[in-house]
Amino acid sequence: MTGQPAPSGIKLGIDIGATTVKIGAVGEGTAILARAVAPTLQDFAAAADLIAKTVRDTFREAGLGLSSLPFAGVGIPSAVHPVTGRVVEANNAGWRDAPLKEALEKRLGLPVLVANDADCALAAEASAGAARGVPDVLMLTLGTGVGGALLLGGRLYRGADGMGMELGHMPLIAGGRPCTCGADGCLEAYCSATGLVALTRDAMARHPDSLMHAWSRRRGGRVSGRTAFECLKKGDGAARAVVDRYCELLAQGIGGLVNAFRPRRVLVGGGVSHAGEPLFTRLNALLPRFVISFGVIGASEVMPAQMGNDAGIIGAATLDRVRGG
Ligand SMILES: [Zn+2]
Repeated sequence: MTGQPAPSGIKLGIDIGATTVKIGAVGEGTAILARAVAPTLQDFAAAADLIAKTVRDTFREAGLGLSSLPFAGVGIPSAVHPVTGRVVEANNAGWRDAPLKEALEKRLGLPVLVANDADCALAAEASAGAARGVPDVLMLTLGTGVGGALLLGGRLYRGADGMGMELGHMPLIAGGRPCTCGADGCLEAYCSATGLVALTRDAMARHPDSLMHAWSRRRGGRVSGRTAFECLKKGDGAARAVVDRYCELLAQGIGGLVNAFRPRRVLVGGGVSHAGEPLFTRLNALLPRFVISFGVIGASEVMPAQMGNDAGIIGAATLDRVRGG
């Protein structure tokens, strides 16, 4: 049973995360017509087998055929070789130099496009979110790390070697905090959720009377990227100082990237972006300090990313629209 041929316009998106793989059949208008979730297996061959089986089962149960799909799009949190589609290093899955494109093409009988998760997030925004109709867009995803992607002239800019952008590792402060990449003072070291937590903990240590201590105690001692933003709402001065400093560092980083690439719009996604208004108001107010010729040309607008949990699936399924040659 192969089901009916897929109606035209249906695409397949596969979003490989640290612990789960999300699979979706994406229709016109980026509606998800069928979906499934599978665990991300550490053994690469077994993982590829399970992904292919889950895709086949999902399409069969939805009465959709696979064979007429133009391609399968795959997103993964790793650098990806642009020609071979090999995954350089997917830390959480434990895959090293894994031939993802080849393995899935063999198992699915379809051409496979593989991109990193930041490129997929921006592809999703370009298809149906805050980058729709805007050809030059920079996007930062602020989570455990900082993911970055750039759309130039409607195409993902992926560098001379095609390996994509590493905007999170733009140097921000010489001799600064150690970064996961081995360098010091990167944007990621300060502006990831992890960096925000470090700023928050520093402030808590210096301000024993801050409301942030009580907030944290009510959550079993947990300090998160939300701690300072939540306590700011209650008027806590130490929390306000953390948010102000965090936004200043992030605006400086964004300003540097705006000066380099001159995007029309800057999107900020990931967990930290859920802070909403206090974050975006500050970023847009601070950005002119760091953008050259602001008085003449204006600064790029900083906006929240719009695509939610399905961004990975939709971005992978629409990679063909934004892939450079
Ligand atoms: Zn770094």
